[in-house]
Amino acid sequence: PAGLLGMDFTTHDGDPIVQTLSEPYFARSWWPCKDVPDDKAEVTLTCFVPTGMYVASNGQLLNVAWTPSGSYFVYQSTYPISTYLVSITATNYQGWDEPYVSPAGQEMTLEYRVFPEDVADAQVDFERTTEMLDLFSNTFGEYPFIREKFGMAEFVWEGAMEHQTMVSYGDFLITGDKFYERLVAHELSHHWWGNLMTLTDWDEIWLHEGFATYCEALWTEHLDGKQAYQDFMWDRSLNMVGFAGPIIPPYNLFGNTTYKKGAWLLHMLRGYLGDADFFQALRDYAGLSSSQYGNVTTEDFIESVEQTTGQELNWFLDQWLYVAGRPTYEYNWTSEPENGQHKVTLRIHQAQSHQLYSMPLDVRIQTASGPVDSEVFVTDSTHWVTYYLDEAPTSVTLDPDLWVLKWTQELADVTPAPFVAGETRLLPAHPNPFNPTTLLRFELGEAADVRLRIYDDRGRQVRVLEPGLLPVGPHRVPWNARDGRGAPLASGVYRVLLEAGAQWQAQSVTLIK
Ligand SMILES: [Zn+2]
Repeated sequence: PAGLLGMDFTTHDGDPIVQTLSEPYFARSWWPCKDVPDDKAEVTLTCFVPTGMYVASNGQLLNVAWTPSGSYFVYQSTYPISTYLVSITATNYQGWDEPYVSPAGQEMTLEYRVFPEDVADAQVDFERTTEMLDLFSNTFGEYPFIREKFGMAEFVWEGAMEHQTMVSYGDFLITGDKFYERLVAHELSHHWWGNLMTLTDWDEIWLHEGFATYCEALWTEHLDGKQAYQDFMWDRSLNMVGFAGPIIPPYNLFGNTTYKKGAWLLHMLRGYLGDADFFQALRDYAGLSSSQYGNVTTEDFIESVEQTTGQELNWFLDQWLYVAGRPTYEYNWTSEPENGQHKVTLRIHQAQSHQLYSMPLDVRIQTASGPVDSEVFVTDSTHWVTYYLDEAPTSVTLDPDLWVLKWTQELADVTPAPFVAGETRLLPAHPNPFNPTTLLRFELGEAADVRLRIYDDRGRQVRVLEPGLLPVGPHRVPWNARDGRGAPLASGVYRVLLEAGAQWQAQSVTLIK
């Protein structure tokens, strides 16, 4: 992602390094090229550096010539490559190579080029690259650059970049305890999602970053199982309050909406299609002969998945791709005896104002002898469903396995529990729904500097209330449904975020005019 704006000269541990990062359109700043992602070429690159520096770059190292004044390195990419993926890094690298044999029996070399001071840490951090290659090639198809190599070159930065066959990996990320290991998986996975199948238009960058973030989730699932996978996705749904703007076009090319909401779209598609169809669809998409080593659009992806699954999918994907926000499902339920059974009536209401979503939702009704699971398909503003159970329900949960990106709020006659010392919590606003003023209520377990941020249902911050330093105990702060400049806000769902010292909690309030 954008950061170095082309070529950069700096130092590590006192030693000089030359490094590049050109995404999205800074390749033109350091070499002459037609700098668009959809005009791939085969590239031969010759680099002359002072004695003592080693050059890491894309493709195969064809030749090194040592002269009294310095060294020539000649690299060649024989697979087509986009300009933003061409890179060089040069410094006093130390490195090591490892042989790799793919699950299909093809051989290549893994090349690691790191700073002398970081070799020991890097050997720990990179030791599962082979396992990642096996996972992704078994899931998506053969590693696309198997005739060349996969490499990692350390550079001076806080992030990483998927330069084709030679990832640039920030010194900040090398810790010796695999703390950022999922980013190795992220950059490797870009070799399918970004380098093999490259976007045509930067507005569709979710085709790279949403996929690569989702591959971090797959790596997490591979290592630690289903629960860890679910936790990974859940963490990326919170994002404090929401995602600003749509996935296409993104407000910020490299923002949370591109990465996290993009990954959520694939997660939701998996939930909808089921594992067998979903993974076959990804495999077929990566194998599209019309686009491999070339360029794709979001519509190409959707058509490919439709081809695999035989299902029409624009209705499912478009509501998430082109519209900002997520649904807010408010629900409540009642239970009454009827003919010796328990009649459970569930009401689900889509409280957001930006659009109605059409989504399947799992419903889990808990009873004394275990859960009763079912699925509802919610398309209307208010959806009613009735169940007849042999046992009394004790609770109802929407989407218990977290397959849908959403906010949920169970409506009830909430009587707040008495204040518990040491607990900070946001209480239900009163009244809610409201017009024009509501009391935002909370309890502090310890004295804290308090801030209440209010966001609309597209994730835009509309107001900040700053009551300041408050003592332990219950508090209430009125909000008059006006923004920071005093203008009245429209009807809709607003998200209230309580920040109290290092703690935060969020809830929704509804303004009805
Ligand atoms: Zn990425």
